[in-house]
Amino acid sequence: MRIRIIPVTPFQQNCTLLICEKTHKAAVVDPGGDVARILAAISEEQVTVEKILITHAHLDHAGGTQELAQALNVHIEGPHQDDIFWLEGFPMQSQMFGFPKVEQFTPDRWLKQDDKVSFGEVELEVLHCPGHTPGHVVFVDHQSNQALVGDVLFRGSIGRTDFPLGNHDQLITAIKTKLWPLPDDMEFVSGHGPKSTFGKEKKTNPFIF
Ligand SMILES: [Zn+2]
Ligand SMILES: [Zn+2]
Repeated sequence: MRIRIIPVTPFQQNCTLLICEKTHKAAVVDPGGDVARILAAISEEQVTVEKILITHAHLDHAGGTQELAQALNVHIEGPHQDDIFWLEGFPMQSQMFGFPKVEQFTPDRWLKQDDKVSFGEVELEVLHCPGHTPGHVVFVDHQSNQALVGDVLFRGSIGRTDFPLGNHDQLITAIKTKLWPLPDDMEFVSGHGPKSTFGKEKKTNPFIF
């Protein structure tokens, strides 16, 4: 699996195009907005998108989902059902994040711990990592040794937990019990900022003891 990062929205959210190099099938993770830019990257890569995956229902990650799903005629998988508060709260979020009004959606499939999500010949493992939002999920590709962690973990930082339904203890527990067991040399893409590896964060991240 190859990853192309497409920064979207004023929050420079790392929307990612996941490409199965064998079949040229693809999935889009967290299309927060700037849908035209995402569509341009898809046609540049000459891939066929099979589905849209959502880590969590904050607007900078999910705001362009309905528009992109309609443009590509594909299903939406994720986040975990516990993010329904944020999905139903899209109008409230537009005010909170200063976004234009966007279309709400209901996923075709809610995800839960240990689910599998596939496109082309790639199979991703789903980890439920609540704390930043209650229904946040992480996607892991064991074959290419890469993960997409959304706003759970960043290089040198962790996700904010001061939003409604945020929970700092839950976030730390999720990182320690779900992410730390992954290989030290596994590279991850966060929702914002640069990539890192779990081994590096285990040693140097100042927010997790
Ligand atoms: Zn977020
Ligand atoms: Zn974010």
